[in-house]
Amino acid sequence: MKVRARFAPSPTGYLHLGGARTALFCRAWAKRQNGEFLLRIEDTDAARSREEFVAPILSALEWLELQWDGDAVFQSARRELHLQAATRLLDSGAAYRCYCGPDELAKMREEQVARGENPKYDRRWRDPQTPPPRNIAPAIRFKTPLEGQTKFRDLVKGEMAVENAELDDFVIVRADGTPTYNLACAADDADMRITDVIRGDDHVMNTFKQILIHRALAEKNNAAPKFAHLPMILNAAADESGNPVKGADGEIKYERMSKRNGAVDVNFYREAGFLPSALLNYLARLSWSHGDDEKFNMEEFGRKFDLSNAQKSPARFDLEKLRWLNREHMRDADWKTLRLAGRAMLPGDLHNESFWSEIRDSDLALTLPRASTLAELRKESEFFIARPPGDFGLLREHLGEDNQAAFNDLRAALAALPEWRAEAIKSAMNNAAKRAGLKFPRLGMPMRALLTGAAESPDIAQTAEALGREETLERLSACETA
Ligand code: GLU
Repeated sequence: MKVRARFAPSPTGYLHLGGARTALFCRAWAKRQNGEFLLRIEDTDAARSREEFVAPILSALEWLELQWDGDAVFQSARRELHLQAATRLLDSGAAYRCYCGPDELAKMREEQVARGENPKYDRRWRDPQTPPPRNIAPAIRFKTPLEGQTKFRDLVKGEMAVENAELDDFVIVRADGTPTYNLACAADDADMRITDVIRGDDHVMNTFKQILIHRALAEKNNAAPKFAHLPMILNAAADESGNPVKGADGEIKYERMSKRNGAVDVNFYREAGFLPSALLNYLARLSWSHGDDEKFNMEEFGRKFDLSNAQKSPARFDLEKLRWLNREHMRDADWKTLRLAGRAMLPGDLHNESFWSEIRDSDLALTLPRASTLAELRKESEFFIARPPGDFGLLREHLGEDNQAAFNDLRAALAALPEWRAEAIKSAMNNAAKRAGLKFPRLGMPMRALLTGAAESPDIAQTAEALGREETLERLSACETA
């Protein structure tokens, strides 16, 4: 049977890192078996879903080149199908109508808590002794088996089982006539002939319920899909001011990744200038391993990926490692790719069309080793295009009575250099420093301040060579007005 895997994000926010990792694994799993990778937008929860998140989710997937097959399916357009499934479950006796209103349920709950029991629907309408009330719209509940276990073999976690007694007679259609997530999801997976469901392990309890629905809906031995649950991505826990929280043992605590303790949205990484190949490499490596491979491209990953090598335990997000991988991918990329990515990804000022077409490859080659992201590359290279602003605080720090004359001597030596090459520039600097009895930085630092506007930059002689003689001398002459 052809593998049909699907990614099913809910548009309750932007695509987050966990979602991107699920989509990546799902697609790789389908593709390595020559199967299909489908996309279903689970927008049934009207209170939480927002249409404005749909387009950014699609564009984030496209940016990551996690292209899906066929058209995206919108769950909200399939309500009829979900309700038909509920009717079939009612007709076959696998589901029943429950006439408990919210007040009655709240009272039931209170009484159970007062008795020290775990609150749970007490199945009072499963085998009703009284006729249904006329003025209450019923919900529809699934008739969960009272005994035995529901089991499945998870493709990542292995054997999974739950006592049926622990599962409620859960609601599949609310009293207002809307299908719940578990019904919609199982009915859609069955209708879309999904063979493999890969998702976060916060859905494990839903899986037991969905398996029961699949079995009850199954025609001609149609089994439930296979399931794979991926572990959560954790981040260092942070307090209100963003500082890491430590436990009594002094170790940093980790918790489920959330906005509070780091950037969760894929968009953040796009705008900061992480290459999609690096982000995918990082996400792949975060929850899967192949020997000691750290750095790989998606083609290699696709060949080697297998769910049996996916990690079972939660993964810890490590921004430094992601930055390292991004540096590596930036170095492997050609200039054209970096320019295009810089133009397409960076927001606002950093995007700056003219910067990316004006800056030369040889300039970028000097600043690349100093950058871990495209945004940093952009900032580090800014001085090539725009002369440093007239902020001479830094210059005054480095240019004073003791070195002013030597600095002017250096400017004259540079103007007279027969050849404008980094080596020649460096020796002119060395010689000028020697003549004045100064250490090299006493000339290097003011020169750096004037050429780049910063206290740190690529090698100053190479920078001067890249800027060219005229531009260098022009920038250095600003010391006269400082
Ligand atoms: N819509 C669910 C979510 O975003 C995913 C459900 C699934 O993959 O089955 O968490």
